[in-house]
Amino acid sequence: MLRLLPVAAFLLSTALHAQPASPEAFLGYALGERFTPHHRVVDYVTSVAEESERVHLVPYGETPEGRPLLALVVSGAGVAPEAVQASVQASVRGEGEPSHAVVWLSYNVHGNESVSTEAAMATLYELATSARAAEWLDDVVVVLDPCLNPDGRDRYVHAYRQRRGMQPDPSPAAWEHEEPWPGGRVNHYLFDLNRDWAWGTQPETRQRLPLYNAWLPAVHVDFHEQGVDSPYYFAPAAEPYHPAITPWQRELQTQIGEANARVFDRDGRLYFTREVFDLFYPGYGDTWPTFNGAIGMTYEQGGSGRAGLAIVTAEGDTLTLADRIRNHVDTGLETVATTAAQADRVRREFADYFRQPPRGAPRAFAVRGPDAALRDLAALLDLQGITYGLATRTQSARGIRYAGGRSEAEPASRVEVAPGDLVVSLDQPKRALAQVLFEPDPPLGDSLTYDATAWALPYVYGLEAVALETAVEASGEFAAVPSPPPSAYGWIGRWEGPADARLLAALLREGIGVRVLPSPVEIDGVPYGRGSFVVAPAGNRDLGAPLETIVQRVAEATGRPLAAVAGGQITGGPDLGSNRVGFVAAPRVGVLTGEPVSPGSLGEVWSLFDQRWNYPLTLLPAETLTSGDLRDLDVLIMPGGRYGGWLTEDRTAAIRSWVRDGGRLLAMEGGASALAGTEGFALATREAPEESADAEAPLPRYEDRARERATGDVPGAVYRIALDDSHPLAYGYSEWTYVLKQRVQPAPFLDRGWNVGVVRDGAPTAGFAGAEAQAALANSLVFGVEDLGRGHVVYLLDSPIFRGFWASGELLMANAVFGLGAR
Ligand SMILES: [Zn+2]
Repeated sequence: MLRLLPVAAFLLSTALHAQPASPEAFLGYALGERFTPHHRVVDYVTSVAEESERVHLVPYGETPEGRPLLALVVSGAGVAPEAVQASVQASVRGEGEPSHAVVWLSYNVHGNESVSTEAAMATLYELATSARAAEWLDDVVVVLDPCLNPDGRDRYVHAYRQRRGMQPDPSPAAWEHEEPWPGGRVNHYLFDLNRDWAWGTQPETRQRLPLYNAWLPAVHVDFHEQGVDSPYYFAPAAEPYHPAITPWQRELQTQIGEANARVFDRDGRLYFTREVFDLFYPGYGDTWPTFNGAIGMTYEQGGSGRAGLAIVTAEGDTLTLADRIRNHVDTGLETVATTAAQADRVRREFADYFRQPPRGAPRAFAVRGPDAALRDLAALLDLQGITYGLATRTQSARGIRYAGGRSEAEPASRVEVAPGDLVVSLDQPKRALAQVLFEPDPPLGDSLTYDATAWALPYVYGLEAVALETAVEASGEFAAVPSPPPSAYGWIGRWEGPADARLLAALLREGIGVRVLPSPVEIDGVPYGRGSFVVAPAGNRDLGAPLETIVQRVAEATGRPLAAVAGGQITGGPDLGSNRVGFVAAPRVGVLTGEPVSPGSLGEVWSLFDQRWNYPLTLLPAETLTSGDLRDLDVLIMPGGRYGGWLTEDRTAAIRSWVRDGGRLLAMEGGASALAGTEGFALATREAPEESADAEAPLPRYEDRARERATGDVPGAVYRIALDDSHPLAYGYSEWTYVLKQRVQPAPFLDRGWNVGVVRDGAPTAGFAGAEAQAALANSLVFGVEDLGRGHVVYLLDSPIFRGFWASGELLMANAVFGLGAR
């Protein structure tokens, strides 16, 4: 190796136009011969950035398991990425057009769709070295993220290597084509990162969004894999399209699709378009970029976690990793070429996108609710680059209220905006995204969609909302949260929103016990709702530091206020020393993990404890669970899953006796359904409703079978849940809340127990639910509590914390976990 001073090396490389090494030369094997672990991918792309004048390395964060997140910016000779970025941001503000069309290529968001990162290396090399790429880069800048989910991808790559011999076995039955639980698709916290772009619940997304928002590409491709026997999918997408998608966005994805088709047609490669992958739910890597001004597209190679290095397809061909790489490289490069070929139009249309008026009547949205929910919503808006303000005075405007059903059916009326209401005006660059995230019931062009059909942020955060037809003043900002004042008797905290649960979790973790008020009270003339909690010296005498010091540190760290309490006599409720006031200390909590638990459902719980609450949670392998494991627990969580074979008589008896001795069991989704009808538990199963015997009814036609199935389905709709707000499980709520329902496994009301949250009307508040599903869901249980011996079983038939973004359910989870329901 020749060692040179850095400056000399730079001059030499410039003078000689040094070329980066190909993946094969650098890695020591041809792409496709094996899977490349993430650290070697990082080594390779770093070396390309070092050797190529076109390529710039942009580290943007770290995964939960400590792997680097990074992007490569590829630009032409003499083009400074910062200048391009500045021109994009100026055009978004309405000043001119961007200097270049920015294309962003995202790879391997699903970790086990493992061809993508291999294809990313080949694509980067081509962009960095080829003459045709040099021409494209006159008009285009490419941002390439070789791996959005390094933890999941390495989980797949390592598992695959462990299961194969010297030669890959193409037999579909071979061990190497089965992934061990939980599979590599999801990230460390078992989240699907391709559902997370709009919500940013995961560290990978939260670190990526600022970089994305700094670039705002005009074209975005998300590279995936689908089943082994589906050859390839590219744009144009399937219906339904969200109405926010513009004619130009439809046009360009069609053109790019035609260009990809020409490449595949040349040598007889199969593909499909306009099927399966729709553009509706805003959490995806195709829709979310689309709502941010890009042409957002998904490309799906046949393969995924089953395909390994080689697998025999149903038709008898052998699909190899090398085949899969070639397809993703070709479509990626063709997308860049097609964009470059009409870069002038792309730049003009991109600038126009940010000048278009909002679609339909709303000019702004105003939401109202507890500070502890509004501030969390504001944090999400900050992450998404959506601007907002607080109203500073009372104003009257024309608008439509959300609450109480399908708002589109309600006529506009005079509504009032009050001081402190959070207002999001659509007069801003992010207007399309803001509108998609706020409008109460997105118009669905076709009921056959891939995913959730409603998600409006006021439901997510449990806030009252209006869609306003006129602009209103909203120049206020959130006030700084004061530190808790000194107090000899104690402090009181509110129990109203997700941020309050974080404060309580932090206090409990510090070893501080709190007293929970069972009824609304007044302290110094200020009202506090049920579930408000008091931190007092009694019960907290043996802490390592003065109580006041800890309380102030914790309150400041979580950004929540605590007010001083002067004495133990309480207006409107029992005094602090009353036995009706529950004392809550830190519970020891365990959650079932591994087979037969659903990774996604476990992930919601794990992420809530680790990421949101920073509260210890013991992950217990379900397959080896013994009654001894339960002995040290106060709370056991059964996430969703298929517990049929797991729930043996012995296990049922052990769990039941642990509950009788004072344990609290949280049975969620499939966990609750598994207990339904099980001896010793109060939850029953519901018989399927009688089919109507209408002699005139037409028989179902075969070609309509997908639509027939949809009548029994809820792909994901918002339901209004009637609450018994006097029950401790519903402390902190009013008489209703909303959940995102994705399951149709309705349970009847509890005979022995408390029906805390129920669906009365089977129709959703927003989104689609099939007619049969609606009939089945009418008058069904959603949240219930069975008192059993000295313990409790909490049935949560729908997840209150859907995909980790359904913030309004966090308080209910805290009620269930922290034992506000203990007395
Ligand atoms: Zn995928």
